Parts: sequence; structure tokens; C-alpha cells
Amino acid sequence: MFTEYDVIVVGGGHSGCEAAAAVANMGQKVLLVTMNMNTIAQMSCNPAMGGVAKGQLVREIDAMGGYSGIVSDKTMIQFRMLNRSKGPAMWSPRCQSDRMRFAETWRLALEANPNVDFWQEMVRELVIKEGRVTGVKTGMGLEIPAKAVILTNGTFLNGLIHIGEKRFGGGRAGERASTGLTEQLHALGFASGRMKTGTPPRMDGRTIDWSRLTRQDGDENPAKFSFSEETSPLSKQRPCYIAHTNQAVHDILATGFEKSPMFTGRIQGLGPRYCPSIEDKIVRFADKNRHQLFIEPEGWNTVEIYVNGFSSSLPEDVQYEAIRKVEGFENAKMFRPGYAIEYDFFPPQQLKLSLETKLVDGLFFAGQINGTTGYEEAGCQGMMAGINAVLKIRDEEPLVLKRDEAYVGVLIDDLVNKGTDEPYRMFTSRAEYRILLRQDNADLRLTEKAYGLGLANDERYQRVQEKKAGIETIRKLINTVSITPDQANGMLTKLGTSPLKQSVKAYKVLTRPGVGLNDLKAINPELAKVLARYDAETSAQAVIQIKYQGYIRKERELAEKMIRLDDIVLPDTFDYHRIGALSYEGREKLSRVKPASLGQASRISGVTPADISVLMVYIGR
Ligand code: FAD
Repeated sequence: MFTEYDVIVVGGGHSGCEAAAAVANMGQKVLLVTMNMNTIAQMSCNPAMGGVAKGQLVREIDAMGGYSGIVSDKTMIQFRMLNRSKGPAMWSPRCQSDRMRFAETWRLALEANPNVDFWQEMVRELVIKEGRVTGVKTGMGLEIPAKAVILTNGTFLNGLIHIGEKRFGGGRAGERASTGLTEQLHALGFASGRMKTGTPPRMDGRTIDWSRLTRQDGDENPAKFSFSEETSPLSKQRPCYIAHTNQAVHDILATGFEKSPMFTGRIQGLGPRYCPSIEDKIVRFADKNRHQLFIEPEGWNTVEIYVNGFSSSLPEDVQYEAIRKVEGFENAKMFRPGYAIEYDFFPPQQLKLSLETKLVDGLFFAGQINGTTGYEEAGCQGMMAGINAVLKIRDEEPLVLKRDEAYVGVLIDDLVNKGTDEPYRMFTSRAEYRILLRQDNADLRLTEKAYGLGLANDERYQRVQEKKAGIETIRKLINTVSITPDQANGMLTKLGTSPLKQSVKAYKVLTRPGVGLNDLKAINPELAKVLARYDAETSAQAVIQIKYQGYIRKERELAEKMIRLDDIVLPDTFDYHRIGALSYEGREKLSRVKPASLGQASRISGVTPADISVLMVYIGR
């Protein structure tokens, strides 16, 4: 029934979809096996993409030719650029999505690709011959051959759903758990752990008194995620709202604590620290008598409402009674209760930087199975696993994005070298080179790589080349054109900054706080004439590069130093136990992780700077 596929992707979540797209767009045949074709790219929790650091990930996926950005743009109902009051390194795009359209658009995008085949079933077993994966076996007993397999099982592996004292197997509300794979992987020598996450109740928007909530609109001039011209910013948006819990809400929630799976110890898995349940919040912050809730529509037309901040696994009647004490929710009806889910994950130190497992050749893991949380974190891993599975079967070097090249690189490097004992989500603080890794320059950083892999088309590549040339021209111009006091002082006084005493180069004026390119254009006709040739994005990029050039240069220099360490290769066969001068922990960790380079070795937790010096001396010999 099946001929051999190049790659089989197990799971049609955010990770699996990006993996399948990458494989197919690189020209290889891929089979997406997923338990339920109707839930491809399902948003299990909040109907939103992006946010702080996650928005940067979506921009990077897009620059690499992935679909998350395009699908988000096509299905968003509101857009906001978060942290706009801070420097550009912190700007983070976030959108509110139409949950149903998001999933449909993803599915249609995959269906439009003739290299993607689909099969709806549960994969129960991997077929492994001589340490190499050669296919999968399904619940019905079908054996499907492939050269490489990517597991993206999300929250489904032995998933256990909790609502109060009720407990039942499931990978997500209304869906079966995946069984069999964890046990087989254990038998192969893999270690696994248990994590948990939770989701809030969904309410009936027709029964909420919106007039008592605070309205939160999207940006006046919304931007978008994708660098491609396939999508455009929203011309109309749906508002979100803000509400608050109060003491009465907390008191009712507390009546359910004795039945809480969290507090009675029935949930063993570790949850996401930055996404606590409402019961967790009222216990941990007992002195606070209210917590903010974001009331988010689930789509353009549906009346279903997501109550962001009210994640709970308390009994459904307690959730219901408590939420009706929130101002504006007095008569609210519930569509679905919140719940918590526990699932198996595989500590990611068992992976190479390519996301291929160290134990089984040709087997890749991506997404929540690696201990991460979030659609964006899952999507970018899926994309990288897809790319590397193709490179593997072509016998080519894997693509590893470095920490100064992409947040995606930071994420994978963190996972593989440090592991994680709680659900890992991306933050800007995880990236040491965040001034280099801005959301605005993801295309400049990554399009060329995507083009080399066949993931970005000629048009995208050309546009980036033109943008680069434009930025260079503008930078040169701003560095050479002089501005006289006569030209500048009116504008500078208006902006409340000191006037010029003598002529200076334009960049000196532009780097002053509050001065923009439009101000320079207005006072200098030569600049105005040249700048008129460039679009807003190119000009904005040039301005960022000029205004922050000192910081950018400093980070680049730091990164270069680290790259030199990354260039020193450590062979797979290196026997660290033989180097007595290494610390005991250093020897253990280095032997376990088997870093590919001295740079990677330096980032393994437990490996000290002294260990690195020892290795340098040893390699020098
Ligand atoms: P998933 O999106 O879970 O997709 C897994 C896919 O694999 C599914 O399509 C499933 O059908 C398929 N599958 C599984 N096993 C098999 C098998 N053996 N054979 C065939 N197909 C299989 N993230 C946050 O960032 N914040 C949150 O607050 C948050 N809360 C969450 C609450 C809940 C209740 C859940 C379920 C998830 C939550 N998440 C949250 C996580 C978010 O949904 C995931 O991070 C993201 O969806 C992971 O993507 P993925 O592709 O790895 O897996």
C-alpha cells in the first residue's frame, strides 16, 4: 500500500506541520501521519501567535520559508507590536488568531503541496534495523517505510487529563492519548520525564456584559509576521478585553482545593512556571486580591471566548461558580471547562544539534516532545528537524543555526546542552545577542540560508538583496552628508534637543533621541531625494542600524569571539574520561552530550571555564 517515503512526520501539530512543509518544499516526499486529520495545526490552548520572543521565532520561521507567519497573517483578527516603548531588540509581534481558520489554512497549505501525503492513524511503533529507523508501524498494524522519521507527538504521549478528581487518558480535550511509543523508546535506551500544562475555560460571548470590561484594541497601524508579499496587514480588527478576578472569585476557587489534582499531588509533572494556573496564582500570591484576565475572542465570527489567565484544573462546577463572580461574567455560560494535562517528554540532551537522536540514526524529535511549550517553539523545531532530515538522507552536513544567528539557534542549543526540567519557553533574556536577533532583521539574517536550501524563492531572495543594498546606500549617505545649523536648529529646538553650533554629519543628528529619518528628509533636500527611492521597511532598517550601531558592533565582536570556539571541532570519538585534568562533572557531562565543538562544550551546564582551558590545551597538543 505504501512505497518508501523520504521522511515520515508523526503528528500534525505545529511542529509536524512545519516539518512536513520543510521536507516537501525541499523537494522530498513526506508522509504526515496524524491521529486526527480534523485537528491538523490545532491551537490546543490560546488562539494567538507570537508575543515576547515568540514573535521573533515566527519571523525567523517565515524568513526560513516556513508557513507559521503566513498562516498567522492570513487568519489573525488583531495585531499588536509588544514592547514598542522599548528598544527595537525588545519589539515583539503578537496576533490574536481565528482558531478554526488557522487550522484550516495550515491544512490547505499542506494539501496544496504535491510532495505531502497524509495518513490518519496512530503510530504505535518505530521500525528499527541495526540502529537505524526504517519506518513506522501503525495501530492497525500497517508498516510504512521511510528513510527518516520525525516524532512530533506534542502532549499526546501517555497523555492524562485532569479536571478536579476526574482523570482520563487523552492527548488534548476530546482526543485520544498516544500509547506504545514511550515504552518502545525506553526499551531502546531513551530516558523520559513527565510534564504538565493547563488551559482555561472557554465562555459564551453572548452571555458576557462587555460594557463592564476594559477594551483593548489592536495597533492603529498593524504590521504582520511574514516578509513575503503574499499577505497584508489587517484593515479591520476585533478588540480584546481586560477583566479582573476579585476576592469572591478567589474564595470560591479555594473551596475546590481539596479536589485539586495539583494540590493533592495527583499531578506529578512539572508545569510551565510562566503560565501558572489561577489556583496556583492565588496561593503563590496570597496577598494579591485580584489578577488580570485577558478576554480574547476565538475568531471573527464565533462567540466562543478564551479567558487568558484563568487556566485551571479545579472541578468544573468550581470553575463555573468562580468565573461568574468576575465583573461582567455574572450571567456567563461556559462552553468548555479548563483542564490540566500530563504527558511524557524526552529530555533533549539525547539529541544532536540537528535534532536527530543520538541513539537511533535517522530518527528526529521536535516540539513539545522535547520539553518545550508553545506553538512557536514547536514550529521552529519542526522546521529544523524537517530540514535536517532531508540533509541527512542526502548525506549532507546538518544545518545548525548559531546563537548569534537566530532565536531558533538559541532554543535548540539551550535544549541540547542544558536540557530542561520544566516546560521551556522562549524569552528575550535567553538570547545573549538579542540586539543582533531582532524581529525586524530576521529576513536579512536568514533568507540567504533558506534560499540555499531551496526554501526561499528567487523573488524573496532578490528582495532581500535589494533591501541590503538599499540599507547600505542609506547608511553611507547618512554617514557622509552634512547638516548645517541653519537646516537643523528649528527642528532640534522643536524636539527639545540642543541646537547645533557647527555643521555635523547627518548620522550625528539621527542618533539623537526622538530624531527620525523624516525629520532629516524635511530639512535636507539631498537626503530627501535619495531616500524617496526606498520603501519604509528599508529606511526603518537603516535607521535602526545607524542608531544602534555602537551596541550592534559590540555584540558582533562578542559573538565573533564565541564563533572562534564554535569552529574548534571536537570529534565524536573523543574520550573525555581519559583527560584527568577535567573536573569530574565536566567529564561526565562532556561524555554524555558529546559536543560537536569547543563552543558547544562551553555552553553545557556543569562544564566550567577551567574545563574549557584544559580542552584547549589538549587540542593544541
Ligand atoms: P501538538 O500541537 O500537541 O500536536 C501533536 C500532534 O501529534 C497532534 O496532531 C496529534 O494528533 C499527533 N500525534 C500524537 N501522537 C501521535 C501518534 N502516535 N501517531 C500519530 N499522530 C500523533 N502552550 C503555551 O505556550 N502556553 C500554554 O499555556 C499552553 N497550554 C496548553 C494547554 C493544553 C491543555 C495543551 C494540550 C497544550 C498547551 N500548550 C501551551 C502547548 C501547545 O499546545 C504546544 O506547545 C504545541 O501545540 C506543541 O506543538 P507540537 O506540534 O509539539 O504538538
